[in-house]
Amino acid sequence: MMENIREALVKYWGYDGFLPLQKQAMECISRLQDSIVVLPTGGGKSLCFQAPAVTMPGLAVVVSPLISLMKDQVDALTECGVSAMRIDSSMSVSERDSVIARINEQTLKLLYLSPERFLSDGFVDFLKKTKLSFIAVDEAHCVSMWGHDFRPEYRQLGSLKQIFPDITIAAYTATATEHVRNDIAEQLRLKNPQMLIGSFDRPNLVYKVRPRKMILKQVCAVLDRHKGESGIIYCIRRKDVDSVCAKLATKGYSVAAYHAGMTNEDRKKNQEQFINEKVDTIVATIAFGMGIDKSNVRYVIHTGMPKSLEHYQQESGRAGRDGLEAECCLFYSGGDYGIWKSLMRDMPAEAQKIAMIKLSGIYSYCTGGVCRHKAILRYFGQDLDKDNCGACDMCLGELDCIDGSLVTAQKILSCIVRLDQRFGGNYTASVLTGSEEKRIIENNHDKLSTYGLLGDYSKHTVHDWIEQLVGQDYVEKTGEYNVLNVAEKGWDVLKGKETPRLLKPAQKEVKVSRVAADSWDGVDKGLFEALRKLRATIAGKRRIPTYIVFSDAALRDMARRRPSTLEGFLEVKGVGEEKCRQYGETVLAVIKDYCPANSLEMDVGANPETVSDELQINKPKTPSRPSKARQLAFDLFEQKLSIEEVAKSVNRAESTTTQYLVEYIKREKINNPYPWANEQTFGRIIDAVKQVGSDRMKTIFDFLDSEIDYNQIRIGIACLRNKA
Ligand code: ADP
Ligand code: ZN
Repeated sequence: MMENIREALVKYWGYDGFLPLQKQAMECISRLQDSIVVLPTGGGKSLCFQAPAVTMPGLAVVVSPLISLMKDQVDALTECGVSAMRIDSSMSVSERDSVIARINEQTLKLLYLSPERFLSDGFVDFLKKTKLSFIAVDEAHCVSMWGHDFRPEYRQLGSLKQIFPDITIAAYTATATEHVRNDIAEQLRLKNPQMLIGSFDRPNLVYKVRPRKMILKQVCAVLDRHKGESGIIYCIRRKDVDSVCAKLATKGYSVAAYHAGMTNEDRKKNQEQFINEKVDTIVATIAFGMGIDKSNVRYVIHTGMPKSLEHYQQESGRAGRDGLEAECCLFYSGGDYGIWKSLMRDMPAEAQKIAMIKLSGIYSYCTGGVCRHKAILRYFGQDLDKDNCGACDMCLGELDCIDGSLVTAQKILSCIVRLDQRFGGNYTASVLTGSEEKRIIENNHDKLSTYGLLGDYSKHTVHDWIEQLVGQDYVEKTGEYNVLNVAEKGWDVLKGKETPRLLKPAQKEVKVSRVAADSWDGVDKGLFEALRKLRATIAGKRRIPTYIVFSDAALRDMARRRPSTLEGFLEVKGVGEEKCRQYGETVLAVIKDYCPANSLEMDVGANPETVSDELQINKPKTPSRPSKARQLAFDLFEQKLSIEEVAKSVNRAESTTTQYLVEYIKREKINNPYPWANEQTFGRIIDAVKQVGSDRMKTIFDFLDSEIDYNQIRIGIACLRNKA
């Protein structure tokens, strides 16, 4: 069975492997065991049931809560040549009849249904007479009142096990808590379900957090890094949506608004324009996003702090579903904390307590000085197994701690004490910076020993530090006026027993994350753009979203491999037989037009060396057999010819030839780079790898003061890997 599944992956989806836990999830279905699969957004849950459905006899029924989700998945499956249909309330009687006919013909592999349709009397009887392979319940947290999206219709699914006692049920969700998981098992009456729980880390999301100052400028800076790409800007309030949207439009950005105050029609229109890439950016309240499956959202910006990390994870999680790098920027201010707190004032005591705990959780995330990936995972009870994620502002070194955090924190804390813990952050910052405001003089606070202690810094900076101390639980804000109090941990700082981390708002350039560097490696951006245009044209003609035609990952792989034949095109990740048949010639025409005109080589092998192991998913497919040029190059390397010589003989660029060499080194398990790199160079590379690891070429390159070129580093690392 797993062999058949592998074949189906290649044939229909153009994938050559599994994402984490996908294989285990499919194995459960094939051995007819119930299962609960918890994977984050973008973790590849749908394939877990789609692939077995294709290979097993009978019809798989998929329960899904939203028409938009069903439609998206059915469209995507149809594009891949898989026989799938849906029945929902928006369809006409004759449309429904044609689905029934297909079921009766026994040619349909997947049927998507809402829970109420599934369990309607007539339909249950009909399905009882149909051979079912298994039942998949998507968004399964909807059965649980503990989840964030309880749907009473889902509760009825508890009767499935009675109606279809012999049919396996597989449930899928991205919701992390144990409580919800157990509730799903119980509500669906699963029999001895296998629980498969993935890591909640989203390594391809690059998290950045900054205090909010001149928000429009901050937002534009992000947009300018993503020209022509799709993204979402979340605002807390409707009126912010309108004003941000209007201002961006005036500046010439391609934007549309979305919030609950608009007419249904306008909302729908804007959403469609976003999905079909007629506008780049949607500016929205959190009303936007549910049921949006657009896989190539490249950035999510929050112009204010959400009220919990759960919310943040869900909203930011809409970025980068395709596994490619995406940027999540959060701009916060201490004021956001105050707004949420006041909104929570009228909640019942117990609920308020929970809400406050969540609020301080996200606030710590904003102000805290730890790796963002680590912070989020810890919040959800998991751990990150690496010290440097390479994908957040902390780990990328965009933010630095100030020298002497301890002393500075002590100055701030003692000022709070001297002010009898009766003043807020703004006032305290004024005193510390030695402001001559009237109220300070009148209060005689210019006589305090802490007055002007931080006079070398701006009031803004000092205020930021105070917020950071709040976020790290050294200071508490109390009462209606957010009066500062020294918290328990704060007294330890005063005694010198603990050191907070205070960030220096560094004016550093924005760094390219490792994920971005890797997934663009070898990709010709001009060709990528040309292919993107082609994709938009195809999508427009066929009236389907662009990402269903080809994912961004597939486009990049095309612009990396630049195939000139249909055979080569099939090697592209995300291209199965059906897509090859439908679009192969059109795509090849663009490639064959573009490459010669831009002196670009075609039929390049993929470049797997730069992709670190944990990012296997982005790893382009390696060609199954060496091309002629590659084989010849291997033979010449065997004779120890230099790269220049080999490049000439095989008529390939030196970069491609180096790539062949790297593959050769790997295949032959060579661990000494001579004659392609000298001993001294190799020694320096080894030292560099010891210091900074081998995950990222760029880091090594920088570490070596740009003195050793990338090709040499590549060769060195390839050899090093064989030493281990
Ligand atoms: P989820 O439903 O868990 O959010 P999806 O099913 O939408 O995730 O899949 C996320 C992305 O990963 C999609 O773009 C999909 O095409 C891609 N994907 C899924 N499985 C694989 C695989 N085995 N190899 C490569 N890409 C995959
Ligand atoms: Zn990090």
